[in-house]
Amino acid sequence: MIVRRLRWIAPALGWALAACASNHPGLPPELEPRLAAHLAFLSSDELAGRETGTPGGAVAARYVATVLESLGLQPAGDEGSFLQAYPLTRKRTLESASRAQLVGGEPLLLGDDFVPRGMGIEGFQVSAEAVFVGYGLVDAEAGLDSYAGLDLEGRLAVALIGNRRASDELPAISWSVQGEVAAEHGAVGLVLLAAPDDRAGERTLRWMRRDLEHTSTSLGLPESEDAESPFPMVFLAPDAAVALMAAGGLDLSAEHAARAADAGLPGAALPGVSLELASAVEVELLYAHNVVALLPGSDPELAHEAVLLSAHMDHVGVAENGDVFNGADDNASGTTALLMAAELLASRERAPARSVLFLAVSGEEKGLLGSKWWVGHPTWPLADVVADINADMVGRNASGSIGITPSDEHEAYNSIVERARKLGPEMGLEVRFQAGEGELRRRVDIYYHRSDHANFSEVGIPVAFFFAGEHVDYHRVGDTFDKIDLGKVGRVSALVAALLSDVADAPDRPHAIAR
Ligand SMILES: [Zn+2]
Repeated sequence: MIVRRLRWIAPALGWALAACASNHPGLPPELEPRLAAHLAFLSSDELAGRETGTPGGAVAARYVATVLESLGLQPAGDEGSFLQAYPLTRKRTLESASRAQLVGGEPLLLGDDFVPRGMGIEGFQVSAEAVFVGYGLVDAEAGLDSYAGLDLEGRLAVALIGNRRASDELPAISWSVQGEVAAEHGAVGLVLLAAPDDRAGERTLRWMRRDLEHTSTSLGLPESEDAESPFPMVFLAPDAAVALMAAGGLDLSAEHAARAADAGLPGAALPGVSLELASAVEVELLYAHNVVALLPGSDPELAHEAVLLSAHMDHVGVAENGDVFNGADDNASGTTALLMAAELLASRERAPARSVLFLAVSGEEKGLLGSKWWVGHPTWPLADVVADINADMVGRNASGSIGITPSDEHEAYNSIVERARKLGPEMGLEVRFQAGEGELRRRVDIYYHRSDHANFSEVGIPVAFFFAGEHVDYHRVGDTFDKIDLGKVGRVSALVAALLSDVADAPDRPHAIAR
């Protein structure tokens, strides 16, 4: 025990001495050109915004794998490869197969009048009687049940879009929850109405229309097939919504909707009203890649345990007008920090006691898909992953500080964050629980579920997330290389390397700290 504790202190001292020896703590100056080159290449127009499932995204993964291999690290992806492939489906709504109409009425116009959702991969075709269910709410505590006294078995539920608090007494409800509740009551589908002059309803409808014009990418076949089973949903624009309700003898004027919302809006049968709904998607199966590299631990007793450093390589591609989203900060900066931290650790004479895994993921911008896949299909035993340190957007805002979560007010607060706060100043960085400037200054805790570490936290692995805060160029074409504070990315790289080493050499695994 004593030997280990001594060894744990020694590397920390080494870092401290190295930091004191220079007026510019952080990355050694001779590494600065390489840092700039990595970041410039990853954020170049040639990589076309590194969107997952595109050639630009694939080039980014090959580049990262090649650099990690050149550092002498070992492959830790699929079967002796630095890459881990995972399946994705790309879906596009088929216009020719999408229909909605009252039985006996005129077909509605796709996009203008209705937008279908919930096609899964098989699509749907349903014809059934309609039953109005208000906001489609069931909340025993609030004494609300929109479905009370109504028989939905084999019928279509018709509800108002309710993605906001309809009144102070009503809990917020999202359309996906409305769909689940409808399915639980035996409904064969859900029609969601945007009431006239309902701003929240119209906003939801706008999102749905926009989605209609885009492909969506999600984790693919075959394992998520069950989750992809269809539940028919159709969003109706105000004119079509009013007509549907009128056919059943109900008035959906704005006044009615407003008054009804206060009362919790009871449901009602819509006698004689039946709807025919159909839609389908075109499904394309493709593969994307994570990159995984290993620095084996130097202590035979601890080397089976690994500290993980993650960063997402992917960004959001190209705008409709052809402008490239370069994603220099999001997240060429974190990917570069991962490469530089790998170089710093790989060039040491002695590796840390525990193993270190470098995991560069794709699919983050599509819903943290690459890290989700890795956690579901780990290339290192999950029980032996002692921590995930994640870096996402670390190249902008205040030069001398970096944000971190979970904070000491967060339930997941842990010893990694505590160590990061101590090590930061040695690398020229104040490690803070806030990040961003001016109006965009926020507690980093509010981003706790917004990047890849969230998937590790979900399975009980202690995490620390470095994040320099939002800025006006977030997810805009203005997120370019020239606005990156390269010195700061260097300091973050050095801090991440020091922290990886610190956690990997500590006698005990990282642990939660009670608030
Ligand atoms: Zn990001």
